[in-house]
Amino acid sequence: NCKNGDDVIRAVKEHNISFVQFWFVDILGTLKSFQVTPKELEAAFEEGMGFDGSSILGFTRIEESDMVAYPDATTFQICSWRPFDRPVARMFCDIKNPDGTPYEGDPRYILRKLIEKAAQKGYTYYVGPELEFFLFTDSKNPQALDSGGYFDAPPLDMGNDVRREIIFALEKMGVDVEYSHHEVAPSQHEIDLRYSEALRMADIAMTYKVVVKEIARKHGCYATFMPKPLFGENGSGMHVHQSLFKNGKNAFFDANDPHNLSSEARSYIAGLLKHAKEYTCITNQWVNSYKRLLPGFEAPVYVAWAQCNRSSLIRVPCYKPGKEQATRIELRSPDPAANPYLCFAATLGAGLEGIEKGYELTAAVEENIFAMETEDLTAKGIESLPGSLHEAVTHLKDSELMKSILGEHMHSNLVKNKFIEWDEYRTHVSEFELRKYLPIL
Ligand code: GLN
Ligand code: MG
Ligand code: MG
Ligand code: MG
Repeated sequence: NCKNGDDVIRAVKEHNISFVQFWFVDILGTLKSFQVTPKELEAAFEEGMGFDGSSILGFTRIEESDMVAYPDATTFQICSWRPFDRPVARMFCDIKNPDGTPYEGDPRYILRKLIEKAAQKGYTYYVGPELEFFLFTDSKNPQALDSGGYFDAPPLDMGNDVRREIIFALEKMGVDVEYSHHEVAPSQHEIDLRYSEALRMADIAMTYKVVVKEIARKHGCYATFMPKPLFGENGSGMHVHQSLFKNGKNAFFDANDPHNLSSEARSYIAGLLKHAKEYTCITNQWVNSYKRLLPGFEAPVYVAWAQCNRSSLIRVPCYKPGKEQATRIELRSPDPAANPYLCFAATLGAGLEGIEKGYELTAAVEENIFAMETEDLTAKGIESLPGSLHEAVTHLKDSELMKSILGEHMHSNLVKNKFIEWDEYRTHVSEFELRKYLPIL
């Protein structure tokens, strides 16, 4: 575990590292990387590595195309899926402008900013994401490898060996894995990570996605984090468990509350509910994301919270009642194709807003919301999440809170990008239309 540049340079010599990959993400959370030879490292730690950012999504200000990547020594790890002879390592980078100021198009910076905001109030933000994924035969069509279901064991679970190797590869990179299992849909899997501080966890989520895809490829199959690849089956979610700690104590815990939730936790949940429509474009950023958020597939549709009800947006897990350390809330809408940095930043921002403004939490809704009649929903004031990317991006565009969280540059680029995607989708002629209309019209 490196603390600074000198530690990294020593580790690179000791392990005979051939290249160090410098990692960062664009606004949509696509991993970007360039390889640096060991002799460049000393200078890179001192003055960063310059690169042309003009072709990178969200990095597109013509007058600001020169960017500088500063490697974060604490993220140094040997890439466990690469050859061990002359190994390759990687570090995450912070992106800066040539004048040394942080680049506001860098998602890692946006998350850092929010973590700093929480820290000013004495909070440390912990998250534990559950990233689900599918294993298919290839990337051209969603052909499942097995017909297993929830918690099925081998031989029904054909992804067992792939998962096992993924876990070993993650552990070699210092990632703490808690457990893994076959998920509800055929060929769908989940590997659960031990919760961690949010910036570290966003880096881990990026690493997880690379490792899952690389190990699947070694086994001759294709891993995807697409939110809803199979019609009629569960989609893939990224439930995000979250809590705030203060002075080493869980600020969400109150032994005297019937839900064991402190007033801070209640206001935090209220913030996540009140601003849900505004951050949904960040937690669910693709056209396809909205095909997952349907009734009947364990994904949320309505803006409500509950103790154990899995149809609600927020659940307060109750299998370890009364345990301070484990008290947390679970946000169930995000999908694994979200940009983890922006996802954690936007949800933290919404929760903090709730605490800051002292939002009151509405009553928990323990009954199955999917079974409620529309009048019932209206009477209880239960609203729906955006039903499409278009609806979501419109809420994002109009949100002052999201603008302040993302900053003007990130906010306007994201909104622009998502309107373009919606337009591409809206104007294309789909197989559905040809199948339905051509024979009869
Ligand atoms: N796959 C479900 C979702 O879309 C979650 C299922 C589960 O973890 N129980 O969120
Ligand atoms: Mg799970
Ligand atoms: Mg799951
Ligand atoms: Mg869950």
